[in-house]
Amino acid sequence: MTNLLYDAFFAPLAGRERAFLILPDGSEISGDAFLGMVHRVANALVDSGVQPGDRIAVQINKSPMALAIYGGAVAAGAIFLPLNTAYTATEIDYFVGNATPKLLLADGAKADALAPVAQTHGAQLMVLNADGTGSFADLVAAQPDSFAPVARSADDLAAFLYTSGTTGRSKGAMLTHENLLSNAEVLTKAWRFTADDALLHALPIFHTHGLFVATNISLMAGGAMIFLPGLNMDDMIRLMPRATTMMGVPTFYTRLLDEPRFTADLTAHMRLFVSGSAPLLAETHVQFGERTGHRILERYGMTETNMNTSNPYEGERRAGTVGMPLPGVEVVVTDPTTGEALPHGEVGMVEVRGPNVFKGYWQMPEKTAEELRENGFFITGDLGQFDADGYLSIVGRQKDLIITGGFNVYPKEVEMILDDQPGVLESAVIGVPHPDFGEAVLGVIVAEPGQTPDMAAIDAVLRDSLARFKQPKALELVEALPRNTMGKVQKNELRAVFGKAFAH
Ligand code: AMP
Repeated sequence: MTNLLYDAFFAPLAGRERAFLILPDGSEISGDAFLGMVHRVANALVDSGVQPGDRIAVQINKSPMALAIYGGAVAAGAIFLPLNTAYTATEIDYFVGNATPKLLLADGAKADALAPVAQTHGAQLMVLNADGTGSFADLVAAQPDSFAPVARSADDLAAFLYTSGTTGRSKGAMLTHENLLSNAEVLTKAWRFTADDALLHALPIFHTHGLFVATNISLMAGGAMIFLPGLNMDDMIRLMPRATTMMGVPTFYTRLLDEPRFTADLTAHMRLFVSGSAPLLAETHVQFGERTGHRILERYGMTETNMNTSNPYEGERRAGTVGMPLPGVEVVVTDPTTGEALPHGEVGMVEVRGPNVFKGYWQMPEKTAEELRENGFFITGDLGQFDADGYLSIVGRQKDLIITGGFNVYPKEVEMILDDQPGVLESAVIGVPHPDFGEAVLGVIVAEPGQTPDMAAIDAVLRDSLARFKQPKALELVEALPRNTMGKVQKNELRAVFGKAFAH
């Protein structure tokens, strides 16, 4: 029997004595032991009545067992559906109603709140706590540690990942065995992962970055992961000497730079730092290089497509860009109204095609048809621009594009100027309703710790460097930008706060 992902990721763990997971207390789970967990989970799923093609929804804290459930679902031919641990029972009700999973696994602390959700939608609720206890853990412990994987081929679904849903409802992106396998193969090669690598893993495992990019590559390469429950600076500093690589969202890098113990010595042995899921400020890239001598490798991807572009492993890693299309992935920049390809240098909609691109949104054929063209190109919703050397820059989401008095303003262009001003740590530029212009540009600024930016001076710089229609009509100072768990600035929240700035 072949099962594409099982054969590539999990079968090679058999008999491996070297660690696959290294835990914060220094204890290790060997490859073979982890495979045993995967098999026990697969048996437990079958025991619970899970059939190939059934969904398994999990809202559980990060732990080795939580990761083994991904493997168990793959082996049993089920569809893995991880959910953000921050979601409330009301939010989970939507996902469970939409995906109708056979099984809902929850942390004990949330089980009471989720019991009615499971009941309404006919899912069986079981508990798995991060410390390895709970009804599902008991069921798993009672299972044999061998399992004959269910046959699965390229087009079979392996996972549903729901989009973060900052505009409208979350959609369940259907990812196949081929989507995940092809991307893991390409990235393993592009970033030179081998069995000698140990990846410092502090990302959540309900999102494509920590679950697929980091985990699938480590499995494919036969490497190990230093598996932290979350971002904790003491653990990061203490365990970095055991790591060869790290993947993080941009906030991981700014947090590390805030840490005096994070030095060139501490990172001298490291091979690679990868950033993605949100834009890395060019300034962070530069500061990181100055502090450590390493150039962060920034890449670009999304829930629906896995990874699309990457800066080169060898060759120039260009700050402020997300690099070039990965092998086998086509990336075009098109006119958002006509869909025609635009020449290099022009800003337009980023569209992506390749074996990495998902099969559509679960039970949402209209949404799928809106975003996935018949010729296979996925309309990402990101606006981007290729430079003369073929490096792509993401200038923002199309929904964040500001149209003021009929002119387009790309927030990033204004943000880059604001970020450069003395005393400014970072900024976000948004469009807010304006009686004359439709929308007006508004700049939101966060000061460097202990500093007070000179707003009048900043205003003067903006007037000198930007066409009038691009100049913010107001600048607001805030303590911090609202961010989600993946480090993305939540511009919709800023629009909610400052939306009435120009109301009559
Ligand atoms: P998600 O589906 O949660 O992974 O979010 C995907 C979105 O994150 C993309 O469509 C981009 O808007 C953004 N994103 C991911 N990586 C980058 C990056 N390196 N630079 C800028 N934006 C990024």
